[in-house]
Amino acid sequence: MNALLPDNEAARLAALSECNILDTPVEKAFDDITHLAAYICGTPIALISLLDAERQWFKSKVGLDVAQTPRDIAFCAYAIKPNDILIVPDALADSRFANNPLVTSDPYIRFYAGVPLVTPEGHILGTLCVIDYVPRELTPKQIEALLTLGHQASTQIQLGCNLAALERATFERRRAEEALSQANTQLTNRVKELEQRNLEIMLLSEMSDFLQACLSVEEAKKVIVKLTQLLFPAFDGGVLLKSSTKNLVETVTTWGKVTSTKTFKPCECWALRRSRVHWVQDIEHGMRCQHFLGSPKPAQSLCVPMLAQDEALGLLYLSAQDFGKITTANRRLARTVAEQIALALANIKLRENLRNQSIRDPLTNLFNRRYLEESLEREMNRAKRKQQPIGIIMLDVDHFKQFNDKFGHDAGDAVLKAVAQFLQKHTRQSDIACRYGGEEFTLILPEASLDVLKQRAEQLRQGIKKLSIYHGQNLLGKITISLGIACFPDQGVTGEQVMKAADTALYRAKAEGRDLVAIAS
Ligand code: GH3
Ligand code: MG
Ligand code: MG
Repeated sequence: MNALLPDNEAARLAALSECNILDTPVEKAFDDITHLAAYICGTPIALISLLDAERQWFKSKVGLDVAQTPRDIAFCAYAIKPNDILIVPDALADSRFANNPLVTSDPYIRFYAGVPLVTPEGHILGTLCVIDYVPRELTPKQIEALLTLGHQASTQIQLGCNLAALERATFERRRAEEALSQANTQLTNRVKELEQRNLEIMLLSEMSDFLQACLSVEEAKKVIVKLTQLLFPAFDGGVLLKSSTKNLVETVTTWGKVTSTKTFKPCECWALRRSRVHWVQDIEHGMRCQHFLGSPKPAQSLCVPMLAQDEALGLLYLSAQDFGKITTANRRLARTVAEQIALALANIKLRENLRNQSIRDPLTNLFNRRYLEESLEREMNRAKRKQQPIGIIMLDVDHFKQFNDKFGHDAGDAVLKAVAQFLQKHTRQSDIACRYGGEEFTLILPEASLDVLKQRAEQLRQGIKKLSIYHGQNLLGKITISLGIACFPDQGVTGEQVMKAADTALYRAKAEGRDLVAIAS
């Protein structure tokens, strides 16, 4: 190691770097010190020199124009003892400096006196020195003053160093504060997001529970109206279902800025047309659907088809007035909600179909005999409780066999369907029209007295006679019916008895010439 390098050179250089002083502009505080040093010592040159790794750099200089010189020729490097002063009265007479280029050539130094600049930790950063072109001595007072000025220069450097450390600490603290505040915001957002997800899961599970418990599509619609909006409160939207004929889409509910009670065709929605989610991230560049054109133009929109076994049952629609508002999480939730609704509706429809199949006659779609017996018992109980009458009409198509024989079985079926349709149309909501079997039908008319029953039966008889029944393009001949009527409690006190009485009356109507109403005795 170079004899002039202190043992702790790396630490010393680090201390120098921390002072943030190298290559900084001139400062009055340091210049005051060098001027004072030159004045007191009576020398033409005074310097504050800092020893960097490869150079000595002058923070302040009087009487010298160079900014720095190489370290290996620096006098400063010898002034390495704290609280001491290095005095070279005549450089030419000193073997350490006699051949130094600063001595043998410009600036031809002959006299040098330097005091070290020391940090509180004891690192020597450089010197305060006075230089002359002629050999000379310093008086004790001048030495004392130079030592004091050196001490002041050290303090000044330390001040700068402390300031730099303070600035660094302030900067670090500000950065830490910013990072903390950022982390805090992120955490708050995350908590909010989690709270929202929790709420969504709760509402979704509630919706699923209610939908599973619904017995009809109408009931399911009420659940949809109540809960879907709660799942997407930040957006405008709606839920729409295809009509039973499947050629129209009808609004179940809308919220926010979406206000439409108008129906539209399935082909007006890209999602329904393509049976897949239609996401318009930017309305200016995306394909907007034709529906909800009456509502304010949104920035973003999302149509999610409700698919069950590849069939679109309806649509969940969301829109937002601002860009970037509908997130991936929102879209995922919309898909889940649409799936839930679709699944529930498909289940309800399946149950309705199964129930219909078990209680309806497939040819005429009237109730079957099983349902007749079930509901007759129920209606009888109710009538007994309320002490009200029940009327029963049994009717049979006259000479029906001839239709089959003359026009074929399919034509016979067409007649049965026409009669069934007529009965359906001419009975009230509370009446129960059944196909009893073959070409025989039964009507239960709750609360109908014998007089009312007679009137109604007569109307049916005359109405059926006027029917024009077609089979394909062929107009079939006119038909007539025979009817037997009986009432609870007049002609029987149990359902079975009243049915039997009506049947007997029907038999009598046939016997008495057909196309007439016979009243049970
Ligand atoms: P009546 O005036 O005495 O009632 O004579 P009818 O010919 O109507 O009565 P009949 O009991 O002799 O014949 C009933 C016919 O109805 C016999 C049967 O083949 C036919 N039939 C029963 N069910 C169906 C059906 O679902 N479709 C068709 N096309 N015919 C049916
Ligand atoms: Mg018949
Ligand atoms: Mg018959």
